[in-house]
Amino acid sequence: MDCHTNCDIRLCGSLCCRNCAVLTEEEVSELISKAKEEYALELDPKRYFREAQGEHGIYYAVKMIKGQCIFLNREKRCRVYKCRPLLCELYPVIDVNAVDERCPGIRNSRFPEELLATLKKRYANEIDERIKLEQEFRFI
Ligand code: SF4
Ligand code: SF4
Repeated sequence: MDCHTNCDIRLCGSLCCRNCAVLTEEEVSELISKAKEEYALELDPKRYFREAQGEHGIYYAVKMIKGQCIFLNREKRCRVYKCRPLLCELYPVIDVNAVDERCPGIRNSRFPEELLATLKKRYANEIDERIKLEQEFRFI
């Protein structure tokens, strides 16, 4: 999910922001404090996130309104772009070795192969880090 600032969203209507990003508790705290710093936004966690039971414990899903992420504005741009969740940063990479083929940015070279390869590597590293975090601090 990532309504990248220079994407031509007339082509996709910010398709990527019609899925909800899922965050750990630490990531929610970080987003809230950065949104305050960057955009002077006071985010009430209860209003913007809902708890979701994951395999290893509680996660926080960004709420959706009418099928779109709550952080999408009327112009279909992200209101917290500079501090958007990690999953949004990694989009259109959606798994260690997969991209979302529906994203027109892939076809019109908005995301060149080298960039996608870097994002896939980062995705794999982030998963390793997340597993470590979960084992150390919380859910096991
Ligand atoms: S947080 Fe921003 S980039 Fe991520 S899905 Fe929501 S609107 Fe899109
Ligand atoms: S081109 Fe892809 S990354 Fe950009 S806003 Fe559209 S779906 Fe999202």
